Amino acid sequence: MPSRVLSRRRAVYRVSFSLIFAAFLVLSTSVAVGVATTLHQMSVATPASAADAPPPVDPKYLVILVLDGAEPGYLRLGSLPNLDALRRNGVEYDRAFAGILESETPAGHATLSTGSTPAHDGLLGFNWIRNDNDAVRLFDPSAIRSGQLERVMQEAGAPTIASIFKAGHPRAKVVAVSGHKYYAADPLGGPAADYILYYAPDPKGHYVPTAVPGHVPPASILNDPSLIGPNVSLPPGGEDTLAVKLAMAAFRKVHQQVTLINIPEFDWPLGHVYGGETDRARALMQDFDRDLGFIEKTYRRAGVLNKTVFVVTADHGMAPLKYQVPDSVMDDAVAASGTTSLETTYSTAGYVWLQDSTRAQIVAGDIVNKRAAHIQSVYYKVTRSSGDAYVHAGGMPISPQVDRANQYMLQSFIGGNAPDVVAFCTEDAAFVTTGAASWKGNHGGAAWGSQHIPLIMSGAGVVHGRISHAPARLEDIAPTVLSLFRMSTPGMQGSLLADALANPSRTQTRAQRTLDAALSPVVDALRSESQSELSQ
Ligand SMILES: [Zn+2]
Repeated sequence: MPSRVLSRRRAVYRVSFSLIFAAFLVLSTSVAVGVATTLHQMSVATPASAADAPPPVDPKYLVILVLDGAEPGYLRLGSLPNLDALRRNGVEYDRAFAGILESETPAGHATLSTGSTPAHDGLLGFNWIRNDNDAVRLFDPSAIRSGQLERVMQEAGAPTIASIFKAGHPRAKVVAVSGHKYYAADPLGGPAADYILYYAPDPKGHYVPTAVPGHVPPASILNDPSLIGPNVSLPPGGEDTLAVKLAMAAFRKVHQQVTLINIPEFDWPLGHVYGGETDRARALMQDFDRDLGFIEKTYRRAGVLNKTVFVVTADHGMAPLKYQVPDSVMDDAVAASGTTSLETTYSTAGYVWLQDSTRAQIVAGDIVNKRAAHIQSVYYKVTRSSGDAYVHAGGMPISPQVDRANQYMLQSFIGGNAPDVVAFCTEDAAFVTTGAASWKGNHGGAAWGSQHIPLIMSGAGVVHGRISHAPARLEDIAPTVLSLFRMSTPGMQGSLLADALANPSRTQTRAQRTLDAALSPVVDALRSESQSELSQ
């Protein structure tokens, strides 16, 4: 809830693009094309009958629902009639993953909206320092309200769903909404969004909708008494429902074509505080399903439900926190190396930005030498004439496939601002400050639990009743949904998921198969490290 503060993050960063990322993909692709047919596993399940199929219509409206930190399994907790219908009328990806570092809320939402990795869209995580002296700390409403987050996005220059949609439809409105997660709503909308809304307590303690300056809607939306919570201690699901009601209040007033909603409670408190406890998760999903029904009812009344594309996904995974690694393992290594850390971020990975980056190899080596339990691998950054790269310093024995998967993840944020040292925890482990209250779940790193996300796309132009095993990434969502609106996406790094389309071209299908073949080894390797996931 908003009154609670997740006091945990310190970090730093600098911007650049990833030629190495591209080179890695090209290399992987050239190796993997030969086995594309075996690696590209795709099946069609429960095809909808012709009677179920709506008449073909061009989509006009887009609704993206980000269930913050929701585990894919939540989407099958019991009967969820509205969600189940979306799945029947759409495609579900059962091996979808964030595909980025850090697997944190601001970075995940930015990757979703920009169709690009943090290396390209500029948003690395919660905290970093750009250009060695420009601190970015996003776990603070003033960082959003002062426009700092959006300046980072603007300077990076990556297009967004909002900017591309509005370039194609200048009069279209784009609205982004959250509950308390201002740091989710802002990157989800981005600089081009019309209205960016979230919830915060007012001076009387009421829980009220507010807008990011520069993205303020008509006053009648924010002042609607039915959208005000009596206080910040709402019952479970109450905050999620308010976010949806706020988005629909905006829809009734301004009829926005693009609605982007962060649904916050799956991450906080469900994942972090309660470890995704099944009964609580089921109850939250039932609330969400009812809210989804409310959205559909609102669109049906407006006569546009059959012209709407829905996406249900998450911004990152959520891993149970069974094993703790003390932050001091990394902090002590920095101190022993004779330099200091400008910033650190500790989650299911540890990220350190050094005052003297030439000490990175020494720090990484010292962490390895401590042989701390549940540190899978340690990498340090080097700067070469060809650009920055990460070198594996050591850790537990890992296969070349896992090392390549880790490298793939590291490429997603590499550049001048990426951390100097990265330590990945094993599955279900996370760094924890000694003496701090322990969470029951976390994310942030490369392990499969932190990366695995739900993904359903449904509606006008989307194939019906398909379960795809394609390794879909957050960055692929924007190019895929925008293609349904016949919009091209120059400047987005992500790729079109052809198997989401009712009528993909052969060229689109071939391109996806090539990429799937390159990415499947990454997903396979991350999953192979995840015994708990594999045993499910
Ligand atoms: Zn999140």
